[in-house]
Amino acid sequence: MPELPEVENVAQGLRRRALGRRIVSVEIRHTAVIAGSSEEFVSTLEGRKLSNVSRTGKAIAVELTSDNGLPPHFLLVRLGMTGQLTVTPHDAPIEPHTHVFMLLDDGREELRFRDARRFGRLRSLTLAELEKVMGALGPDAQKVTEAHFLAAMKCRKGAIKSWLMNQNLVAGLGNIYADEALFEARIHPLSQPGRVSNDKALLLYKAVRKVLDRAVALGGTTFSDYMDIEGRPGAFLNKLKVYQHTGEPCRRCKHAIRRIVVGGRSSHFCPHCQPKPRVTAKMRGPRGD
Ligand SMILES: [Zn+2]
Repeated sequence: MPELPEVENVAQGLRRRALGRRIVSVEIRHTAVIAGSSEEFVSTLEGRKLSNVSRTGKAIAVELTSDNGLPPHFLLVRLGMTGQLTVTPHDAPIEPHTHVFMLLDDGREELRFRDARRFGRLRSLTLAELEKVMGALGPDAQKVTEAHFLAAMKCRKGAIKSWLMNQNLVAGLGNIYADEALFEARIHPLSQPGRVSNDKALLLYKAVRKVLDRAVALGGTTFSDYMDIEGRPGAFLNKLKVYQHTGEPCRRCKHAIRRIVVGGRSSHFCPHCQPKPRVTAKMRGPRGD
């Protein structure tokens, strides 16, 4: 599932390949990936220019301006689990599960949205609607300040793994990078955020930034579906140290990496480098992946 580094690469790709271009027509083949009215989606996008691209957490907002003085609209893109947004030649073969086509100004290229599992969403919003959606998210995990991060951990009792993945507290981390950051900071995934020492909390803050920055630079992680705007996979997969490395030796201490389920999600960690604290959050949730 795309997390901050993958989504950031798509946002960078949009800036590189689509900024300043106009959407001349929109074709929707599967309305399930459009949030709200499809007719309204088409009518608010057609004729508008992509004038700015921003990202908070896993959400991309593209500002769409018109020439006739109307207020801007925003295209909100969420890739969900298997969403792909690419700039493709108009006459390129159409891959299965391609649901939306946005033809760009010269008619030779188009933005295509492809999503096998259809958890991704495209949405057209006014500025007020966009602010409401973005306002529900915590600060972006690549930009959150040390003071905010440390304060948000205070008094929290759930598992730190779930805390890291709560988009309302810090936005952008999912299963992969939460596991990797906890390994970097040597913190057990069931530790309670409020009981982590200040020193360790600071290590975690730095680990989050380090892991995300490195993953962004390498184009993110591709297991099967994620690709950037040009259709290329990310190169961070072989840099992962614990995620989906169950049973393999830890790179630091050679103990076997373990997998447990925390908050319904698989968590991978080294039992030696990330010892279990005396007091932990309760394990719950039946689902693992
Ligand atoms: Zn270890």
